[in-house]
Amino acid sequence: MEDIRRAAEAYYENLSDEKKRNARFSFNEIDIDGDGRINLHEYVEYLKKDNNTVLTHPSLFTALDKDGDGSLDFEETIVLYYIMQSGRALFCKCCDTFLADVYFSCFQCFCLDESPSTYDLCCACYGGKRFTHHDDAVFWDNYTLLSQSRSLALEAPVQKRRNVLEKIGMIVQVTGMVVGGACLVSSSSCSIM
Ligand SMILES: [Zn+2]
Ligand SMILES: [Zn+2]
Repeated sequence: MEDIRRAAEAYYENLSDEKKRNARFSFNEIDIDGDGRINLHEYVEYLKKDNNTVLTHPSLFTALDKDGDGSLDFEETIVLYYIMQSGRALFCKCCDTFLADVYFSCFQCFCLDESPSTYDLCCACYGGKRFTHHDDAVFWDNYTLLSQSRSLALEAPVQKRRNVLEKIGMIVQVTGMVVGGACLVSSSSCSIM
């Protein structure tokens, strides 16, 4: 969780003043009794209202509650804000705990467009082989996955470029046929103009 916490702090520092004010405003909104802390009840109520029921998972609240006092102060809530904004609310498909640290994802499920969601596992479930997934699944930790995705992203434009070139080639061919036919003479007498 330390990594996410550090990322959240860095993210917050780079927010505009307006967004920082919004974060403070949201915090005050969640803190119904105004005691400067968000308890589990206030937390769940806010997320339900926001239709963010996936985040009401108790393991996430426990992970956010750094000092373990059963409530969240503003700094701890910044991490929640970051998780909401970054879509980093991931849970182990096997034991259902919040993936607070390094985790493993099925590369195929991560990359294929038709895959409904990613298939992520905590290190304990992956290492302990406590999961069942498709046989040819290749698992990578989230850091490796990121660099592999970069390689794929770099490949994609080349593929796209090829497609564009092929299309250009087809247009050139078609144009060539036209030029080789009746259109060699002035455009006014061209039958297809
Ligand atoms: Zn697990
Ligand atoms: Zn998969």
